[in-house]
Amino acid sequence: MFDGLKDKLNDFRKDVEETTEEESDAAADASDSASADAAADPAAGEAADATDATSATGAASDDPAAETDASADGAEPSTFQRAKAFATGRIIIEEEDLEDPLWNLEMALLESDVEMSVAEAILNTVRETMLGETRKQVETTGELVEEALHDALLDVIAVGQFDFEERIAEADKPVTIVFTGVNGVGKTTSIAKLSEWLADRGYSSVLANGDTYRAGANEQIREHADRLDRKLISHEQGGDPAAVIYDGLEYAKANDVDVVLGDTAGRLHTSDDLMSQLEKIDRVVDPDLTLFVDEAVAGQDAVTRAEEFNEAAEVDGAILTKADADSSGGAAISIAYVTGKPILFLGTGQGYDDLERFDPERLVDRLLGDDEA
Ligand code: GDP
Repeated sequence: MFDGLKDKLNDFRKDVEETTEEESDAAADASDSASADAAADPAAGEAADATDATSATGAASDDPAAETDASADGAEPSTFQRAKAFATGRIIIEEEDLEDPLWNLEMALLESDVEMSVAEAILNTVRETMLGETRKQVETTGELVEEALHDALLDVIAVGQFDFEERIAEADKPVTIVFTGVNGVGKTTSIAKLSEWLADRGYSSVLANGDTYRAGANEQIREHADRLDRKLISHEQGGDPAAVIYDGLEYAKANDVDVVLGDTAGRLHTSDDLMSQLEKIDRVVDPDLTLFVDEAVAGQDAVTRAEEFNEAAEVDGAILTKADADSSGGAAISIAYVTGKPILFLGTGQGYDDLERFDPERLVDRLLGDDEA
């Protein structure tokens, strides 16, 4: 999943490791020459030792934070400080070490369809986490990069997360969930999958087809309803979507059904129509949750649509389908940060069981880890 992005993140790790290795070699040379000077001049012996010299002159302390502050103030660590850090088994990372790798990372994120503001947020966190840090060498540069990337990715991916199952459990029944998003992205399939997901957790559901616009929409959702043996509420093509979902709610109340899953039209001739239709549904049905559905393979388009739909009818979360297909991963990384609303589920195939609760930690581990999942 998201293999391209995973490879690019790995490239960044290698980039930084290579750059800091070169710097460490330079520091080692400096350290060697300091020791050589000491040997040539026995009187200066103690003071020329990289570690003791700094404490003797008081130019720097052994406190790593002091060096961090020095870098944050814009003061470049001197070759001497680097040599000292090297001699005491630490690495100093400077802005110039990161310049090229961060540039490459930015390009890689943008190429992977990560939205610009999201890429910038990731870079800022990585830069802040890594700059001026002095680390004991036990913690290798590779580990430091991994930690910085982990935190940076999680910060943007985990925006707005909440416990969906708990929300359903605690809500007064019936719970009404309305699905928005354009046609063809897997909206109807996701409704069917979520109906199964709910059934697995002991909740009954009824489907309501609020897509009264598209010819064939009723037949499409009926196929799923029949296969899953669920009740479907539908009206004639051209009917009022709000009325269909309202009828679904009435049916659920009368029959003790826990959840109403309401489809909506994906694309109308003008966005004003879409807006007013979704607003009417909001007014008439007052859904407990509105979920936006889009496909991972749509990349930037999915992010733009998420923003547009969120403006038309505020969404509570998103379902990202086709995560099993070869996609850049940009949508998965960007949607929550851009809209402020979390991705709640990933669609991972065409079967009804191919719906996975979105777990930001797990995605970050997948992107940074060695596992192929
Ligand atoms: P809608 O027009 O948005 O309602 O889209 P559909 O639900 O009809 O789905 C369009 C196509 O995408 C169908 O062939 C689905 O089987 C397929 N699809 C939906 N979700 C997924 C998914 O998570 N992975 C894959 N590989 N295909 C999916």
